[in-house]
Order: sequence, then structure tokens, then C-alpha cells
Amino acid sequence: MWFIFRPDAVNVWKNKEVLKRYQRYRGILDGAKKARYLLVKRMPIDCSLEKDTLEELWAEHERLAEEFPKLLRKLNGDQITLDELPAHKKSFLELKEEIAWRILRNCHFCERRCGIDRSKGEIGVCRVGQETIVSSAFLHTGEESVLVPSGTIFFAGCTFKCAFCQNYDISQEWKTKNQPSMTAGVVTDAKRLSLLEEQLWKEGAKNINFVGGDPTPNLHTIIASLKYLQANITLLWNSNNYQSLEATKLLLELMDFWLPDFKFWENDFAKKISGVDNYREIVSRNIKLAYEAGSGEVLVRHLLMPGRVEADTIPILEWCAKEIPNAMVNLMDQYHPDYLIIRQPDKYRALNRRILPEEWKRATKKADELGIFWRPVS
Ligand code: SF4
Repeated sequence: MWFIFRPDAVNVWKNKEVLKRYQRYRGILDGAKKARYLLVKRMPIDCSLEKDTLEELWAEHERLAEEFPKLLRKLNGDQITLDELPAHKKSFLELKEEIAWRILRNCHFCERRCGIDRSKGEIGVCRVGQETIVSSAFLHTGEESVLVPSGTIFFAGCTFKCAFCQNYDISQEWKTKNQPSMTAGVVTDAKRLSLLEEQLWKEGAKNINFVGGDPTPNLHTIIASLKYLQANITLLWNSNNYQSLEATKLLLELMDFWLPDFKFWENDFAKKISGVDNYREIVSRNIKLAYEAGSGEVLVRHLLMPGRVEADTIPILEWCAKEIPNAMVNLMDQYHPDYLIIRQPDKYRALNRRILPEEWKRATKKADELGIFWRPVS
């Protein structure tokens, strides 16, 4: 009965511009198009997953990544059907899975590049080991209109340390002394994760929404789960988008829809508030890749923060208008002081308030001047 609570989730699809921008996603919802991961599973590999070096596996990945858009065009143009493509025991998906496991052993799933061996129980900044912990999984009715109801899977752990985190119970404080808390979630292997995905699909989810904390440290489990899933459903990457270039490459052919945060423009501020280096370069690189080399169906989330309209919001909007003109932007006004902002008010004085109506007005005026398409999803 989600549509009773969210009539905008139905009405948004009457907007021709929304339909134009998210054509493939709509096609998957209508059963007219196939989710990308289903095609990835039908592409045979020409390498040895057991014997080849990581460099050799990446070379094969590059070859298949080049082939993928050509095959997808044929599939979209009805020149081929999925049924005509035989299933393979060792497909492009297993290649991605093997590369993900090798990355885990020298972890560089995100640009922190801790370089530790998580398969041996070593723990990096995100404090996620080899095991994946799912905090919750449910039909989310609070996401953007085009996504609702969203089959959302929340993973414990995060690659960021945001002082204002509103999910700090699952991103930061889910572990004490490196032991997950009783309420952190449930250890979930690939098979179990696929059952959750399937259940959400059966319950009417429009998409499988991988989120957290952040989903990035769990990429090995997420990719492996897709071996067991058969549903024609949109896969959605809902992340701080700080994943490494290598992780982004693994995701490009799998994700149908991208929901990246773009929080900061100024790197110094990102370092101070979230503890990450080179924020702008990394996040903008990954968004651009999703837009140009991935599915292209992108919805950027920008959380307005107090006193940051000129420093962050406006340059981010200018970047979106220039670099990813067909993406939509969710301008978010729900910032409220939380977590360290209220625990250490003297340190974070400037952020210890909600945004002002004038700040919202300046941001939305600029978005309109730039021709950003934001209203249906904000
Ligand atoms: S996911 Fe990122 S933060 Fe976590 S161990 Fe790997 S490189 Fe480090």
C-alpha cells in the first residue's frame, strides 16, 4: 500500500522529462528491458580465474567491458534476446567476483586504499572484515519519488567518518573493540544476500538499493550474490561514491541506476568533517564514469549544509549542469545537527543548526538558473 503514502511515486512517471532521463530504468520496471547484470552473466570469459595474475584478469575485464555496450545495444534493439545467449559457469560475473576477492586481500575497494588483507581478518578504516553484516533490509518508502518502494539493503560500516552522520549507529558505532554490537545486524553471505534481494523483488521493490553505512566494503559479497539472483530488477548503487577506480570499474556493467552523494566541493572541508582526502576529484570522477561509461542513469544527492551554499552547493550545481546535464539532482534540506555535531558543539559550532530558508532559496534559485532538473525528486 506504499502508493497511498507516496502518490508522487506514481505521479512522477507522468512527467515526460523524467521518463526521458530514466528510460532504461522505466523499461526494466515495465519488463521491456533487462537489468544489466543478467547480460553480464551471459558473457563468457577467456582466461583462467585460478591461474591468471590480477593484471591478466583486468586485461580480460577490459576486453569484456568494451564488448558489453555493443551487446547491450543489440539486446535493447531486440536484435538478440537473453535466452539466445547461453549461460556460462565462468562468466564476466565470476571474473568480477574473482577480481573483487583479490582486491579484498590487499583492500582498495575505496580510495583510502588501506592495503590490508581482509580475507585474513585484518581490519581497515571501515572496520568491515571479510564478513558482510546487513543491518536491515526492507521496502523503503522514504526514498526519492522515482525509486519508491525501494528494496533497500543497509550494510553496517562506512568508509567515511562524517561528524554529522545521521546513521552513525550503523556506520560508526556498530562495533566496539572491533566486535559488532548486538544490534549491528546479521552476518550475511552471498547466498543469503541473494535471498534478501529476491524477497524484496517479490514484495514489489522497484529496485535493489545497496546502501549503508556504505556498501563499498561489501562489494565482494554483493557481486557474488548476483550469481544466485535471476530477477529482472534494477540494481542501484547508493553510496558516498568514494569507491576506488577499480571498484567503480567492477560496478559499471552491473548497476542500472546510480544514486551518488556529492556533499562537498572544498576538499579541506571534506577532510575536516568526513576525514577523507581528495574528495572532490574522486567523487566527481566516479559520477562522471557512471554517467558516461555506466548506465548513465544518475540521481545525485546533495545535502545542503549550514553556511555552505556558496562554498559547496553552488559549485556542485555548476559542475552537474556542465558535466552530467541529463542527471537529476535531489536538493536535500533535511540536515540537522546529529552525532559529533551535538556531542562536540564547540568544535562544530558553525554546523550546529539547520539550514535557513534564505540558504534554501539561494540554492534552488541557482539550480533553476542553471537548468538543473531537481523538483520531481527533491
Ligand atoms: S573498504 Fe576502504 S576503508 Fe575499508 S579496508 Fe578497504 S580500503 Fe580500507
